[in-house]
Amino acid sequence: MKCPHCLESVSIFSKEMNKFGKSKVCPKCSNSIQLYVSPKWAAILIIPAVVSALLLEPIFIDAGLSGSLSTGLMCGVMVLLSMRLKVPKVKESA
Ligand SMILES: [Zn+2]
Repeated sequence: MKCPHCLESVSIFSKEMNKFGKSKVCPKCSNSIQLYVSPKWAAILIIPAVVSALLLEPIFIDAGLSGSLSTGLMCGVMVLLSMRLKVPKVKESA
């Protein structure tokens, strides 16, 4: 993910991203950033996510796991990949 301020890449697993609370800061430039799930990316990624879930389902069942686990896993990966950083707004305009 790229910081909207300094365009440096910020890891989703970095300490700054995993802090509690809504206000997060960029570890590189210390400006406030907001983590959000991009609907555009979610829409793009839903297709490979569904296909992967369907492909993984028999493997999961073979391994003695629930088939729905593959769907859950792929949804989680999809959300993770759809995450983007943006400049937080004080007021959301309608
Ligand atoms: Zn930054």
